[in-house]
Amino acid sequence: MWDKVKGSIPVGGLPFKSLGSKLIFSFLLVVLAGGLSSTIIGTRMVGNTIMAEAQKKVRHDLDSAWMVYQEKLRRIQDVLLLTAKRDLIIRSLTGGQGEILRQELERVRIDYGLDVLTLTDKKGIVLTRTRIPYTAGDFQGNDELVRRALQKEMGASTEIVPQEELAKEGPELVRQVFMEFVPTPKAKGRPETRETAGMMLKAAVPILDLNNNVLGTLYGGTLLNRNHEIVDKIKDIVFKGEQYKGKDAGTATIFQWDLRITTNVKDKSGLRAIGTRVAMDVYDQVLENGRAWIDRAFVVNDWYITAYEPIRNMKKEIIGILYVGTLEEPYADLRKNVIYSFFGVAFLGLVLVFFLGYFITRSITRPIGELAKATEVIAGGDFSQEVSIQSKDEVGHLSVSFNRMVRTLKATMDELYVLNNKLQDLNRHYLEMVGFITHELNQPMGVLKGFLILLRDESLGPLAAAKQKQAVATMLRNVNALINMIQKYLQLGRIESGRMEVNKTVIPIFAETLNPILEDEKQQLEARRMQVVIENEEPFRKVEEEADAVLLRIVFSNLIGNAVKYGREGGKIWIGFQEEPEELLFYVKNEGQGIPADKLTKVFEKFTRLQGELERRRGGTGLGLFNAKEIVERHGGRIWAESEEGKWVNFLFTLPKGRKGK
Ligand code: ADP
Repeated sequence: MWDKVKGSIPVGGLPFKSLGSKLIFSFLLVVLAGGLSSTIIGTRMVGNTIMAEAQKKVRHDLDSAWMVYQEKLRRIQDVLLLTAKRDLIIRSLTGGQGEILRQELERVRIDYGLDVLTLTDKKGIVLTRTRIPYTAGDFQGNDELVRRALQKEMGASTEIVPQEELAKEGPELVRQVFMEFVPTPKAKGRPETRETAGMMLKAAVPILDLNNNVLGTLYGGTLLNRNHEIVDKIKDIVFKGEQYKGKDAGTATIFQWDLRITTNVKDKSGLRAIGTRVAMDVYDQVLENGRAWIDRAFVVNDWYITAYEPIRNMKKEIIGILYVGTLEEPYADLRKNVIYSFFGVAFLGLVLVFFLGYFITRSITRPIGELAKATEVIAGGDFSQEVSIQSKDEVGHLSVSFNRMVRTLKATMDELYVLNNKLQDLNRHYLEMVGFITHELNQPMGVLKGFLILLRDESLGPLAAAKQKQAVATMLRNVNALINMIQKYLQLGRIESGRMEVNKTVIPIFAETLNPILEDEKQQLEARRMQVVIENEEPFRKVEEEADAVLLRIVFSNLIGNAVKYGREGGKIWIGFQEEPEELLFYVKNEGQGIPADKLTKVFEKFTRLQGELERRRGGTGLGLFNAKEIVERHGGRIWAESEEGKWVNFLFTLPKGRKGK
């Protein structure tokens, strides 16, 4: 199913990635990037919202917990208030019925679940306590609540009760509050190792006579240490005893300073974690700075979303903390579920986009693929290929243009074909003509030259006048030039018609090719007063190589002929040889006008003649260098020219070392 899109189309040997797979992967990349970022942002937002909601809820739970707490305090105060109004008490304070009164008060204390219930006189001196050993006679007027009650103010608050005071109220109470600190990893270091004081929900009320005079005070309260009534009530009322995976979802704790004195947070062994202490950061914020802490916190064993608030005594001093917390796990699980569903939806979307992308891409790439195939067929030379037009978009447009292009191309190719045939015909005719003319001219010219030589040498009788001799010499020179020219055309004809044969034999280059040319050019050289210098002569004369002597003679003839023709009158011509590792190098250099740098390769082209004064004066064909180049290249060598304009020009050519290599 995928191969058409994913496969690669080999074009010119290069494996190309298909457009389809590129498009699909780009699609996927875009969707992946978009999906991923929105999923991350989305889950973050959802997560944050869930946690913010949880914090709001715990804040609310703390308020509810305070209500339970205050309710308990109020209840204590109410009990005291009612008791203080009882006749019996008032009478006993005015009349004195000590024993009955104590029994009665003790009954009230027990009935209402108080730990302490104590009566003082109007100076604050204890008249009677309600616990063994019923200590009396001590002064309690220093106590903030009692002091206020003596001034007819009733009050209720949480108070710290030192050990010696507890001892007066009842020795069991001393034992109840005594608590060794349990080592707690994140707690703040403290010099103490145990707690001996107690924390009490305490109230004090004045006892008044009918005239509203203070007769005494009644104070009492309930110790919070190891008394789990309030925290459990909070759990039941606020959290309704909810459980999550077998754990209490909501918990409450009362701290005396930083010490858990009553809690329903469980330690590892499942017991109430009393004796452990609050974490250091909570300590700093709540106890040191008096601010509420509402955040996640690690409580004993688990992460909770927590709320801590300071508990203050009557004098508004911080003495402890009220804490509620709900397990973070349910919220974390909720967040996890939301995130999973987010990812699930994103994944489904991705799959959908992938399939959609595939079908959309296919509809785009199919016609393009067809185009690509068609171009390949055309590249192979078949112009009959056209593509079907499938859509009205850019690709459709492309197909239309493509088909038009193919048609134009085909028409042009047909025209070219006809033209080419014509040209070939024309060329054939031209070659035939050149061949015919040169061939037909060559022979009579040879005869002409022969008779002119006989005349010049006076073999047909003496030439009487000097003018006659001069005329014969001029004729001979011109006939030579004509023959030279004809030779060049003949050579061109051979090259063009592919009839040039290279018959290589091992020849002494100097003797076989250069020397005869120098002999031929002797008169011309003298006429132009030019001097030939053979460089590196000794090895030059010795060098032997595989070459076609006739052809190589043409090369030297053309180069030396040019040097004589275009060189400076009275100048020098250097002809040299050099043996290189791989090849033999020959050169013909002459003084003179030289050749401009941009023409150095052009002069080797057919019919090239530089349009200088010299060329106009000296007849030529523009074929000499072309022929020389063809011959050198057919020998496997190279030919080129170097020149310093206005000074010299050097024609160099190489022949590969064939013979020595064998
Ligand atoms: P032709 O000499 O018949 O014109 P060639 O093919 O031998 O044809 O040379 C082509 C052209 O190259 C010449 O017309 C001339 O302009 C230039 N040329 C060749 N040899 C020389 C040279 N030694 N010095 C200056 N120009 C030269």
